[in-house]
Amino acid sequence: MKVLVINAGSSSLKYQLMDPDSGEVLAKGLCERIGIDGKFTYKPQVEGKETLKAVDVAMPTHSEAIQAVLNALVDSKNGVIGSMKEIDAVGHRVVHGGEAFNQSVLITDEVMKAIEDCIPLAPLHNPANITGIRACEKVMPGVPMVGVFDTAFHQTMPAKAFTYALPYEYYTNDKVRRYGFHGTSHKYVSGRAAAMLGRPAEELKIITCHLGNGSSVTAVDGGKSMDTSMGFTPLAGLPMGTRSGDLDAGILQYLMNKYSLSIDDMLNILNKKSGVQGVSGVSSDFRDLEEAAKAGNQQAALAVEMFNYGVKKLIGAYAAAMGGVDAIVFTAGVGENSVGQRLEIASGLEFMGVKMDAEANNVRGKEVVISAPDSKVKVLLIPTDEELMIAKDTAALVK
Ligand code: AMP
Repeated sequence: MKVLVINAGSSSLKYQLMDPDSGEVLAKGLCERIGIDGKFTYKPQVEGKETLKAVDVAMPTHSEAIQAVLNALVDSKNGVIGSMKEIDAVGHRVVHGGEAFNQSVLITDEVMKAIEDCIPLAPLHNPANITGIRACEKVMPGVPMVGVFDTAFHQTMPAKAFTYALPYEYYTNDKVRRYGFHGTSHKYVSGRAAAMLGRPAEELKIITCHLGNGSSVTAVDGGKSMDTSMGFTPLAGLPMGTRSGDLDAGILQYLMNKYSLSIDDMLNILNKKSGVQGVSGVSSDFRDLEEAAKAGNQQAALAVEMFNYGVKKLIGAYAAAMGGVDAIVFTAGVGENSVGQRLEIASGLEFMGVKMDAEANNVRGKEVVISAPDSKVKVLLIPTDEELMIAKDTAALVK
């Protein structure tokens, strides 16, 4: 079986053609500057086939972008399949499923309507995801499609974890609650963690730390998300590359009054100029911060310290919330690559049974146990693979 995985943004579209059973990727790439001039990147993963890098292809809309992907996949010289008929299904990443979706679903007219109803909850993302689905419907009529939601995995959170302490009607009338994001990643790595430990997910309490440009931590008890650090929007929780994470809402009033900022100005600051970028004044990229800190930049060092401290606090909180923890998982750009940050985050947690193995931890981007053999709590490094999760969910629904 072959599944095309699509992650559509407003002017870009990432794609992967893969076999969901073996996990083999046949080709992947990116369409950029859709609606502008159109740049097309195609990376076949089959030997002897040539890569295309940011070549000019006219893409006035997402439909031309999808068509460019299909043309490349079936190209007689550099294609990886004989014809479009070999694509059995398409899996679409959809950011927000609100309370309507607690799992992936086959896309129907009714489902499209429900995804549209979630637009107010994700005004930047859902319209782009919908555009991607419509474009595929147009270019690949009759091919089954599945929607995989970033929020779905977190729909198991109990009310005490998802309710904000606001007048209750804001929840009942306006759907204001914690939704959580990165659900596909948290689901994937918690599942892999159970497999690595050789125990059923139902028996395990796992804390998954998705630490990248955007970051969130999730408490997974018995295979279900019980709490997570992102909230109504992906602005909540940890400080991130450029996002503030949690803060006292009173700060908004104070700064908006003092500097005559509109709410849009304020949110632009919170989303794009804050986080480790804002604190360091150097970069949103943790590699740059590490270098700057080594060169003596104290604000860069503080930004990284704040981030690590935030993750450590969440681990403590979620262990308490679940009444224990069997495994802690690190994933995404920082979690998979930053040897130092993993060590820093896990240090001081010995009181709760976490003992790192510095040598085992000196590794990047592969599935491995990085705690000491006698550590009560296992610490795992697991590269995330949201595309594979989307392909697997898609295959399961289409079969
Ligand atoms: P992601 O959003 O998952 O792609 O993660 C991006 C983040 O991972 C960026 O802040 C990168 O600086 C960080 N990252 C990637 N490689 C490394 C590394 N070797 N050490 C520290 N951070 C890294």
